[in-house]
Amino acid sequence: MRLKDRVALVTGGGRGIGKAIALALAKEGADIVACDINLENLKEVAAEVEKMGRKILILKADVSKVSEVEEMVKKALDKFTKIDILVNNAGITRDNLIVRMSEEEWDQVLDINLKGAFNCLKAVARPMMKQRSGRIINIASVVGMMGNPGQANYAASKAGIIGLTKSAAKELASRGINVNAIAPGFIKTAMTEALDDEIKERLTSQIPLKRLGEVKDVANLVVFLASNDASYITGEVIKVDGGMLM
Ligand code: NAP
Repeated sequence: MRLKDRVALVTGGGRGIGKAIALALAKEGADIVACDINLENLKEVAAEVEKMGRKILILKADVSKVSEVEEMVKKALDKFTKIDILVNNAGITRDNLIVRMSEEEWDQVLDINLKGAFNCLKAVARPMMKQRSGRIINIASVVGMMGNPGQANYAASKAGIIGLTKSAAKELASRGINVNAIAPGFIKTAMTEALDDEIKERLTSQIPLKRLGEVKDVANLVVFLASNDASYITGEVIKVDGGMLM
């Protein structure tokens, strides 16, 4: 087990990539704190983690709200006394062309995807600095590196995550905290299920490995970045995209 007795906080852990990450970290021996805006989904995750013999704390928290994030980190520390790993995974899309994009669509995506990641990173930074160790893994997207029509808000939020990752990596390195980002391509989840079949076929044809990614493809990299094997890696953005963006 590569993460025995570490404590990992995963945001948006109720389904999709976040759920896969929480389960993969637990399988490697970590205890889990999982937050989501939907507590029902988290109950299923909790049952699976407990079956593996690990502890889990599930919390309803909206990452875009500073007070809810602070409360979440306080509860996590009360239960586990430390947080070794933060995975900033919670994210949404509100797609529209720029000329049609409402202020609300812009704000919602930036608030959850970018400010949410900042809120969580800030809240765990102090306890991690005191411990003189920590791993922060931010889920960005290849869209933040290459842009995408109809996703100006999402692409901006994910490009912002990359800037946040590199700045935090430089600020926190001297305290033993590594900060990295993962940029998935198209992964099979509810987020991509919403795309119509023609778009999915077109996208797949542009991927050298000729398939959409699986949630475990992202979760496996999170486990590696959280493990001792990745101790000399910080400030990186690693793509998991079947070769789509080279
Ligand atoms: P998903 O299936 O929609 O899951 C996102 C999770 O985040 C859901 O459980 C959602 O809760 C939760 N969430 C939404 N807003 C939240 C908030 N304000 N506070 C806390 N939790 C919140 O999406 P996914 O495909 O697994 O995506 C996970 C991450 O990977 C996102 O950051 C996404 O941008 C990124 N990503 C995904 C892909 C892809 O192809 N799927 C590609 C690149 C990057 P509800 O269940 O209540 O909605």
